[in-house]
Amino acid sequence: MPKNKQFNKTVKLSGIATSPGIAIGPAFLFRPLSINIAELESNVSDVEYEIKHFEDAISKVSNQISFAHHNSQQKFQDQFADIFESQQAFLKDPVLINEIKQKIKEEKHSAALAVSVILAEKSEHFINLENTYFRERAYDIIDLKQKLINALLGIDIDYQLSKPSIVVADMLSPSDTVNFNRNFILGFLTDKGGSNSHAAILARGLRIPSVVNGYNLSKFIQPDQLIIVDGFQGEIIINPDEKTKEKYLNIQVEFIDFENKLLSEIDKEAVTADGHNIRLSANIEFSHEVNDVKVNHADGVGLFRTESLFIEKQKEPSEEDQFEVYKKILEQLNPQPVVIRTLDLGGDKILEGYSSDNEMNPFLGWRAIRFCLDRPGIFKTQLRAILKASVYGKAQILIPMISSIEEIMGVRKIFDEVKKELRDTGVSFDNNVPIGVMIETPAAAMVIEHHAKYADFFSIGTNDLTQYVLAIDRTNDKVSKYYNTFNPAVLYFIEYSIKTAKQSNKEITLCGEFAAVPQAIPILLGMGLRHFSMNPFYLPEAKKIIRSIKVEECVNLLDEIRPLDTGQAIQERCNKFIKKHVPDLKYLM
Ligand code: PEP
Ligand code: MG
Repeated sequence: MPKNKQFNKTVKLSGIATSPGIAIGPAFLFRPLSINIAELESNVSDVEYEIKHFEDAISKVSNQISFAHHNSQQKFQDQFADIFESQQAFLKDPVLINEIKQKIKEEKHSAALAVSVILAEKSEHFINLENTYFRERAYDIIDLKQKLINALLGIDIDYQLSKPSIVVADMLSPSDTVNFNRNFILGFLTDKGGSNSHAAILARGLRIPSVVNGYNLSKFIQPDQLIIVDGFQGEIIINPDEKTKEKYLNIQVEFIDFENKLLSEIDKEAVTADGHNIRLSANIEFSHEVNDVKVNHADGVGLFRTESLFIEKQKEPSEEDQFEVYKKILEQLNPQPVVIRTLDLGGDKILEGYSSDNEMNPFLGWRAIRFCLDRPGIFKTQLRAILKASVYGKAQILIPMISSIEEIMGVRKIFDEVKKELRDTGVSFDNNVPIGVMIETPAAAMVIEHHAKYADFFSIGTNDLTQYVLAIDRTNDKVSKYYNTFNPAVLYFIEYSIKTAKQSNKEITLCGEFAAVPQAIPILLGMGLRHFSMNPFYLPEAKKIIRSIKVEECVNLLDEIRPLDTGQAIQERCNKFIKKHVPDLKYLM
């Protein structure tokens, strides 16, 4: 940490890269203040007061937006006019205002709850539209919702992200990550977090460069101070001089060229140089990412993390809402399979009012399938929504964090009950929707042959498997130097799972972040993996690697790393291999 904490001069520091890309821009200091939507009043007695309160909030927020628009015009002319104009238009939209007032009058919602519910519905509608202009409006609505709620609750936090900025914060939750106005976010710089935290995974999904600094920089960086966040190398530059700025601007341009070059080959087959066909699927968090799945020629979706539906809404979405989302994805990708993972709340994905937020060890606690089996109402609603949507495409269901056979037996029992209820009420569904088990606890990997009796397929979740094999919290930057999936102990579990699943004649995929690590792809191929699922952003690069290497060479590489003792030595050997076989890969490594 430099002595001069005011950062008047150029300062360069190293952190952990958590989402690739370069961001250059002024700092926006964000102090999160979580609002528990579940606690907003849903049975108000003075409806007139709530309506008046809502009208006052509209004029307050409208003034804030005019002020921000004026400031933006001075600096950027009309570059961001769309954003401010659309927000003002929403505030003036009589239909929208009426809908919110009706919610207050008829359902006795407090103004804040009515705003939250109606604007969440609106943003969801926009985000699912094909047109980019309309999709961008969804981010404006999410931002507007936050501004109105703050005004209604008298929260005076500086949430006025009104120009392109780098968000600097102590830590970001997954919901913070998605709730900013995406149109203005250049990058994230947080004091805490790990590259496999869900906030980081979401940042990658949203294509936002991000770095964890580990120096409490959010306490020292000044608002609007110019910073550079290098999401490739994990570097942070505060007050860059002109030469440094130019260097990073050039990297930004080069990276776009590099991506375009890879994308130009995306329609080629994912076949190794010695003719092995590999399946490459996509991991998605939001339904609008179907576009990215198509653009990157993925073989369907290998992992749809459905908890984003809950986190975005800050509550349980209804069966109908879930059905619409699943139907849309299945229909759009039909006949390609879509693996819908059931709710994985808990750990770092806390939803107030639902999952528990006061556990000593949340990652060892009431998470994922443990939560769902204890709350069968929530679980059944989700299974029903998936089954109903299953007639529109090729659905598969994936169960997270299984650690015992009793859990998968419990899932099967509930699944059969849901099917029977649907049959009895004459609802049609695909009776052959397969159920898969995630291999992300050492317990599931060790007895995978037993799970094979109950599971139709497997998917290895290396993000959690690494944390549970090594006993290292995936979100804690203090121990992130020990978090290494190349650790021979973790590789042992991965290889054992792949080989045993194959012996049991079950398909196995790897959907953790490791699937997209260039140095990992050859060893996974050597272990016999033939199906990878990753953030669609990484697919062009993975395909390039696969097309450049032979499985035979990968098997030899695996034999070479077996005697190596440390993750670091293994990683170095794999690095050499990639550099030799795919020399033009420079970024994303
Ligand atoms: C994993 O653990 O590897 C995984 C894919 O699931 P998540 O990252 O959502 O926990
Ligand atoms: Mg997991």
